[in-house]
Amino acid sequence: MKNINIAIDGPAGAGKSTIAKLAAKKLEFIYVDTGAMYRAIALHCLRNGLQADDKEGIVEAIKSANVSIKYVDCEQRVILNDENVNAYIRTEEVSKMTSSISVYKEVRAKLLELQRNIAKENCVIMDGRDIGSNVLPNAELKIYLTASVETRAMRRYKEQIEKGYEVNIEDIKKDIEDRDYRDSHREVAPLMVAEGATIIDSSDMTIEEVVDKIIMMVKNI
Ligand code: C5P
Repeated sequence: MKNINIAIDGPAGAGKSTIAKLAAKKLEFIYVDTGAMYRAIALHCLRNGLQADDKEGIVEAIKSANVSIKYVDCEQRVILNDENVNAYIRTEEVSKMTSSISVYKEVRAKLLELQRNIAKENCVIMDGRDIGSNVLPNAELKIYLTASVETRAMRRYKEQIEKGYEVNIEDIKKDIEDRDYRDSHREVAPLMVAEGATIIDSSDMTIEEVVDKIIMMVKNI
């Protein structure tokens, strides 16, 4: 039987990973978080003391970044040069660095093949920014998941506070707006509504409502 691929794209904080994870569990698909892969590359660059605008340094540094993913108890682990880096990739510093370096085509090219190969071998729900438009343009189902900036900022704020980080809602909102701008205005594979994608605005929907909607759509493929 042919593998089914579901692409979920959308801006930061729209709920993509929470929703994709739950839907993947119900459907017994593999959840692929492509943002985590970009974050691992950004972490590698930060650890090498690089600034985001040092394109040459970054292109050189990523040659020694070996990124792969592993699944343990259905959880995706991002492996950077044999180290599980899941615990280090969610800081605001890494978030900022990630959206700044993911504009470079060399960074994107490094991850594209890995992402396509996983989708070829498995039924996947893959989330990111360019999945429906670029990575899996022939995906059986494409979703563009979004929400208002205020809702997204509040979700991120709560997430960070729960993790024990000291954060400010206005700073988070500003970071999200900057990230949205960079992600949707870059030249290579920008964030956009892919052709054939269904837009879901999750501002006034519960997580369960969004998951149920996606499961219904999968059943109708
Ligand atoms: O989804 P997440 O917030 O973890 O993604 C972090 C950053 O990685 C995004 O802001 C974006 O710049 C980049 N990214 C990307 N393409 C993807 C997934 C993430 O450019 N497919």
